[in-house]
Amino acid sequence: MSKKNEDVRFGKFGTVSFTRTTRVNDFIDYLENGKVMYTRCNTCGADFFPPRADCAGCLSSDMQWREVTGTAKLVSYSRLEFAPVGFDADLPYSIALLDYGDFQVFGRLDRDLDLAEVRIGMPMTTVVNELPDGRLNFVFKIAG
Ligand SMILES: [Zn+2]
Repeated sequence: MSKKNEDVRFGKFGTVSFTRTTRVNDFIDYLENGKVMYTRCNTCGADFFPPRADCAGCLSSDMQWREVTGTAKLVSYSRLEFAPVGFDADLPYSIALLDYGDFQVFGRLDRDLDLAEVRIGMPMTTVVNELPDGRLNFVFKIAG
């Protein structure tokens, strides 16, 4: 185990329940540089979001970081009026799932989005978002 496995950078990550002890804490460093990343297995080509340090398909640890770029299709979304303890101060917010083809990203719609403009299947992008307390997450915006 390297020191990196025990760091607490995920404590800075805002809204999705990632484990704090993980070998993919570089995710936070990338967020700080404005990039949302996933991992791809160099052995079998499988893509993973949230990023994984080991391939769930072939168990290889030979993974590469790749940036979540371009547009994705909105698969579904849901506006939450109630949330788990710890997330209630954020209400109301909308969770959503985007389909990038080779992988899907689960997250939140941008708080400023007008839900009246949101349609299933519409093109959206994933962007880094800074919360009022300085923590980081990512949100989905309408593409274009
Ligand atoms: Zn693999």
